Amino acid sequence: MIIMNKFSKNRLVAILFLLAFSLISLILFLILLISKIKSQEITKDNKNSKSLILVIGDGMGLPIISAWDYYKKDSMDNNYSVLENFDGSFLVRTRSKDKVITDSAAAATAYATGYNVDNYQVGLLKDNKRVKTIMDLAKEKNKSTGIVVLCTLTHATPAAFYAYSEKRSNEEQIAKYLIYSNIDVAIGGGKKYFKNLIPTFKQKGYTILENINELKEIKQNKEKLNKTEKLLAFIDEKHPPKQELRNYKLSELSEVAINILSKNKNGFFLMIEASQIDWYGHDNLFKDQLNEMKDYEDTLNYLLNYYKTNKDNLMILTLADHECGGLTLIDYEAKKLDDNFKIHYSTNYHTAEHIPAFYKGIINFKINPVINNIEVFSIMKKYLIDQ
Ligand SMILES: [Zn+2]
Repeated sequence: MIIMNKFSKNRLVAILFLLAFSLISLILFLILLISKIKSQEITKDNKNSKSLILVIGDGMGLPIISAWDYYKKDSMDNNYSVLENFDGSFLVRTRSKDKVITDSAAAATAYATGYNVDNYQVGLLKDNKRVKTIMDLAKEKNKSTGIVVLCTLTHATPAAFYAYSEKRSNEEQIAKYLIYSNIDVAIGGGKKYFKNLIPTFKQKGYTILENINELKEIKQNKEKLNKTEKLLAFIDEKHPPKQELRNYKLSELSEVAINILSKNKNGFFLMIEASQIDWYGHDNLFKDQLNEMKDYEDTLNYLLNYYKTNKDNLMILTLADHECGGLTLIDYEAKKLDDNFKIHYSTNYHTAEHIPAFYKGIINFKINPVINNIEVFSIMKKYLIDQ
């Protein structure tokens, strides 16, 4: 009996010990569960800090991308194009509402708003209200917004992201919309359209830079750059000159913008345009087109480097708005694509070709291999706004 008693006593201790152990385990499990839920909440918050950089090569069709790719390999540094370093690609149909061949205003409106409009129209009015652009949606999520271009800030492509006008040529009217857009950074040409508006921008807290030298100065002055919240910077009275005559790179302008925009913990949207690839397509000037491609590629190299430290929260999307010039590479005898390579332009205007798009970023949705231009808006919205 004594042995039995001792045995059941031991058994009781063992049961009590097991119970205590189970209780402690349960408490530990609950603590872990709560902290897991909390960390998921934090991850959810972080999701709101997504940023997107859209890089538009105006008029940058597949022919000039191919030409640059070979030219770089054969005549420059023996490397193929930076586009190899992107994560995926797809084709975009470029037609506008009224024409198979789009102009830049209708093309940019499709990307910025998700609506097709007629050629030469900037933005869209619906129910007497301007349709919200991807920049408006970003603002509603308390993100910062910016534009960096190598043309006037009021030119068709940038204008579609913040303005509405039935005619893209109304650049003075378009300039006024930039005030209402509440944009955080705008860097580009076209100071002449803003002369009367500069006091209003100053009142709204913008730092105004009058020329490229002032911009270079602020780029070097980290303290001043850190203090700058809103920036309106002009690099020219009207359009900036061609690449050969520019003493700055598009990547430098982009770097200033990103320095300011990335201070916002909620993320940002930035549209960068290599604006002039298109112009030398119109003029059928092959060498000038290649020079603009170089500036474009330098910018992508800078951005991909920036991406390395922002992988979880950044998508870089680069594409053209349409092809321009109808370039054909026709030198059947050539062994390499150098300055003597025979080329042929078929037009002084845009063509209807699909354009290739490339993206870098971790995405949780599928992109179809061929899409309409308005779906570019949906892709940006899915990544930047809906996630
Ligand atoms: Zn054009």
